[in-house]
Amino acid sequence: MTERMWNCPSCKAEIPSEAKECPGCHRSLDWNAPPALAQSPPKTTRVIVTGLDLPFGDLIALLIKLSIASIPAAIILTIIVVGFGGLMFACMTAATRLR
Ligand SMILES: [Zn+2]
Repeated sequence: MTERMWNCPSCKAEIPSEAKECPGCHRSLDWNAPPALAQSPPKTTRVIVTGLDLPFGDLIALLIKLSIASIPAAIILTIIVVGFGGLMFACMTAATRLR
């Protein structure tokens, strides 16, 4: 019986061929995958915005669209703030009258 010993791509520990994960760092190992593929880091979908490179006209158009889109949000926020303020005012008025 020839038992192949592997070395963990992460911690370099010896791993028996039948092991499903590294005994050292518990990294899961897929022996059917090619070694190069198995050693590749897990793929993560990540978007990094380093800067906006837009023509000035496009930027103005974007800002106008943003401000138009923010109008309903502003109305909702105003209703909430005014409603809460009115409620607070009513409570304060009632409390003052009780004295
Ligand atoms: Zn390991």
